[in-house]
Amino acid sequence: LSYLPGRKIEQAQLYSGHTIKHPAAQKFCLGLAGCTFESIDRRGKYLLFQMVGGKSLIVHLGMSGRLLFNESVSELSHVRMNIALTAEAKGKRTASNSLYLQDPRRFSRVWLADAPAKLFAAVPSLSRLGVEPLSKDLNQEYLLNQFSNRKQSIKAVLLDQTVIAGIGNIYADESLFVARIHPLTSAQRLTSVQVKCLIDAVRKVLSRAIERGGSSLRNYSDISGVNGNYQHRAWVYGRSGKPCRVCKTPIQRVVVMARSTHFCPHCQQASKSKLYGF
Ligand SMILES: [Zn+2]
Repeated sequence: LSYLPGRKIEQAQLYSGHTIKHPAAQKFCLGLAGCTFESIDRRGKYLLFQMVGGKSLIVHLGMSGRLLFNESVSELSHVRMNIALTAEAKGKRTASNSLYLQDPRRFSRVWLADAPAKLFAAVPSLSRLGVEPLSKDLNQEYLLNQFSNRKQSIKAVLLDQTVIAGIGNIYADESLFVARIHPLTSAQRLTSVQVKCLIDAVRKVLSRAIERGGSSLRNYSDISGVNGNYQHRAWVYGRSGKPCRVCKTPIQRVVVMARSTHFCPHCQQASKSKLYGF
C-alpha cells in the first residue's frame, strides 16, 4: 500500500456483493474517479486513504477482507471492488495497477467522504472511537473513568472500540493473561493496580506483535488480525486445552460477546493481580 501515494485513480469498479456503505454505489464510483492518493492513515480498525483535495476513502476490513495490490483480478475470487490506477508516468498500464478489495464473508465496509469536515457524518462509528492503545491517551485515569460504571466483563470492555480503538480478540486475551486478570472480571471491580498492569500488558503485547509483523502491521493492517508469527507463540489465544506456558494448567475457553476467550484459570485469578514480566 505504500505504493499508493501519488497514484491517480482511473476508475472504481464494484462487483456483486460489494460493501459500499456511503454514498450510493454509482456516486461512490463517480466520486473516486480522477482522485490522487495522498497519504494513508489508520484509526482503530479503519484505514483512511486521504486524497489530494480533501476526499477520503475509508475501509474497514471486517473479519475477512483483504486489500491487494499487484494481483491480477482474474485469479482472485470474492473480489468486491477494484480501484484501477492510471499508468505511472513511464510504465505501461498493466493488470497489476489496481487495488482490490477481496472479501469472502462480506463483513468489510467502505465509505467515501467528500471533505474532512464530512468524515464523521459519512462514517458515524469513526467519531465514537476510543483512544489509540499505543498513544499516551491510554492511561490509568482514562481507563478508571471508563470502567467506573461498566459492570460488563473486562474482556467485553476491551473489545468495545469506543473505549480503546483497535484491540482485537487475540490481543485482548493475550493482554489479560500478561496482566493476570481473569477475562470475566467486571471492569468496574478492577483496582487501579490492575488497570496499570493492563495498560502495560496491552502495550507490551501490541508492541511485540508489531515488531513481529513488521511496519506494514503498524501502518496499514488491522492490529487485531491474525498474525501467523504471533499466533504461534501466543500465551493463551487459540490454545484451549493446551498447558499454560507458565504453570502447565490447561488453558480454558469461554465465549464473551460471541468471541472466543482464552485464559489460564490458575494464572488469571482476582487475587493475583501482578504483571508477568515477559
Ligand atoms: Zn497458567
